[in-house]
Amino acid sequence: MPVRAQGGGEKRLLEDGNVLMLSAPSYCAPVAAALPSAAWHAGAVAGSVVGAAVATLGWGTFAVGSGLFIPVTQRVKISHAVALSFDDGPSEEFTPRLLDLLGEHQAQASFFLIGRYVAKSAKLVRRMVDEGHTVGNHTWDHHRDGLLGGRDYWDQQIRLGEQAIGDAIGRCPRLFRPPLGFKTATQAGVLRHRGYEVIGWRLRAFDTLPLSAAAIAQRVVTHVRPGDIVTLHDGLEPQRWNKSQAHTCQAMADILTDLRQRGLRCVSLETGLQRSSYRD
Ligand SMILES: [Zn+2]
Repeated sequence: MPVRAQGGGEKRLLEDGNVLMLSAPSYCAPVAAALPSAAWHAGAVAGSVVGAAVATLGWGTFAVGSGLFIPVTQRVKISHAVALSFDDGPSEEFTPRLLDLLGEHQAQASFFLIGRYVAKSAKLVRRMVDEGHTVGNHTWDHHRDGLLGGRDYWDQQIRLGEQAIGDAIGRCPRLFRPPLGFKTATQAGVLRHRGYEVIGWRLRAFDTLPLSAAAIAQRVVTHVRPGDIVTLHDGLEPQRWNKSQAHTCQAMADILTDLRQRGLRCVSLETGLQRSSYRD
């Protein structure tokens, strides 16, 4: 005869003295109800897939060396050399000082130029090339919202940047550095179509931050390795809040001295990559 068990379940006392449980007590019931359903599993799997896709896209966009959308060059092919590169110029205030300094140290470098500045300082760009430096495209106006730009936006930014350089030096650049090192699938499609090679960096000086010249020099000389492409800034992107690169010019004197003492040659990307930086 069934008897009520503690907790609301039913049990029967068998002849051999054992107890047969007829229904589970109420305090056991939630266990089955708490087990994940198929829908919960599907949701968890979908969440993981979306999370992984977002993480991959974030890495592809923001990590300077990611080749998710397009291959990125971060080193040169000469082992006893370093490729210094300067972004966001030309600047009538800072670039001539930097060129003087590079000349004093017999150092070559590369400059990734903002097209709208090139249009105003063509003479300075010709001086870069005449003194053995490489110049590359860094968009027309380096707008930070460009990350969200579509095909027309990127086509215009890249085409106008290259046209400004072409007007200044009579050659068409084939090296491109994305603003802030950020890449998108749309931007990459335009770059491939126009035959560009994307240049990243292995070491960034963080000289757009309010660091002292000593701190910038210290960072570069401590971390630089043979073959590295190093990124600094001679110019000021239009959206910059601090308006000086004087500390970069000051730091360069120490950086160039240190590299020379270590036997590391400063080469342009044209020399370091052992292929033409121009499309002609
Ligand atoms: Zn830039």
